[in-house]
Amino acid sequence: MQPFAYSRTTTAADAVRAMAAAPEGTRYLAGGTTLYDLMKLGVMAPPAVIDITGVRELTAIHTTGPELRFGALAPMAKVAADPRIMVLYPALAESLWKAASQQLRNMASVGGNLLQRTRCAYFRGGEAYPCNKRQPGSGCAAIDGADRGQALLGASDACNAVYPGDWAIALTAFDAVVDTISPRGRRSIPIEALHREPGSTPHIETALAADELVTRIRVPASPLGRASTYHKVRDRESYAFALASAAVALQLEGGVVRAARIALGGVATRPWRASQAEEALLNQPLTRESALRAGAIAFEGARAGQHSGFRIELGRQTVADALLIARERAGTA
Ligand SMILES: Cc1cc2nc3c(=O)[nH]c(=O)nc-3n(C[C@H](O)[C@H](O)[C@H](O)COP(=O)(O)OP(=O)(O)OC[C@H]3O[C@@H](n4cnc5c(N)ncnc54)[C@H](O)[C@@H]3O)c2cc1C
Repeated sequence: MQPFAYSRTTTAADAVRAMAAAPEGTRYLAGGTTLYDLMKLGVMAPPAVIDITGVRELTAIHTTGPELRFGALAPMAKVAADPRIMVLYPALAESLWKAASQQLRNMASVGGNLLQRTRCAYFRGGEAYPCNKRQPGSGCAAIDGADRGQALLGASDACNAVYPGDWAIALTAFDAVVDTISPRGRRSIPIEALHREPGSTPHIETALAADELVTRIRVPASPLGRASTYHKVRDRESYAFALASAAVALQLEGGVVRAARIALGGVATRPWRASQAEEALLNQPLTRESALRAGAIAFEGARAGQHSGFRIELGRQTVADALLIARERAGTA
C-alpha cells in the first residue's frame, strides 16, 4: 500500500476545512471497509485520509416525524436492527442486514455504503487489466470478458460495471435525499441523482464533488413502508453481492394496487428505478401474472453479454417474487 497521511476530526465543519487544505485525491475515511480494501489492492491511492469516525453529530438516527433521518456515520448494523425500521420500513432494514457480514455491518456506515465502488473483477484486478473506471481511456476488459456479473441495464461502450450496494436500492424505492456539506455550503441531492451512468466517463461515479461530505440521508415518511421488501438473490444465501435484487413497496386497497415502488439492484450500473413497471401495476389487482408482467417491463431494454443472459429472467422473477412478498405484508394476500 502507498504511504498516506492520516488525520482525525470531531466536527463536520472541521472535516470540510481539513479537506479544503488537503492535497488533491484526499478521501474521507468512515468505517474503512471499502476504502482500505481498495488501497490495499492498489486501486485507490489517496495521499491522505481524513478520519470522520469521531464526528458524533453524524451518527444520529431519527425514525419519527415526517421523515426518517440517518446520520451518514450511523453504523449499518444499528439501522438494520432499529425496531421501528424493521416494522415500518422492512425494505430499508432488509437491504442492510442482507449486505456484507455482521462484522462489516458493525464497522461500516450507511454513508460509506452509498459510496462503495463496483466489485467488477477487472476494476479491482489492478494494472493487469484495462479499466476505463480505474484508468480513463485504457479500455474495458469486462465487455468481451467474463461478464456473468456485469450490468444488464445502463451500460455503455466504455463500462458495464454493476453498482453493488443494497441500501441505495431500497432508498431509491423510497425517494430518499442525501444531504451534504462542502466549502460552498449545504445541498440536498435526490438519491436518484446521486449515482451516474458510466457513459463515456465511467470514472465519474457520483454527483458529489471531491470535497463534499455526506452528512445525512433523509427518507420521507411513507404509507408504503410496511408493505415493502428488499429481495436479494445471490450465489449463496449470505455474505454475497446480489445477482439480482428488487426493493418493492406497495399500497393496496382491497387487493388493488394504488401505489407501487420498484427499484432494481445488482443488475445495473447505478440504482435503477423501474417506473414503467410501477405504472403498469396501478389500479390492477396484484396477482402472480401482473407481478410477472411488471418484472418483464422492468427488464425491457436489458442487454446481456455472453455469460449474463440468465440474469434477465432471474431479475424478472426477483421483481415478481418481491411484489408477492410485499402483497403478503399488506395483509391482503
Ligand atoms: C467482503 C465484503 C462483502 C460486502 N458485501 C456487501 C453486500 O453484500 N452489500 C453491500 O451493500 N455492501 C457490501 N459490502 C460493502 C460494505 O457494505 C461497504 O464496504 C461499507 O458499507 C462501506 O462503508 P464504510 O463506512 O466502511 O466506508 P469507507 O470504506 O470508509 O468509505 C467508502 C467510500 O466512501 C467515502 N465516504 C465515506 N463516508 C463518507 C461521507 N460521509 N462523505 C463523503 N464520503 C464518504 C470514502 O471516502 C470512500 O471513498 C461488502 C464489503 C466487503 C469487504
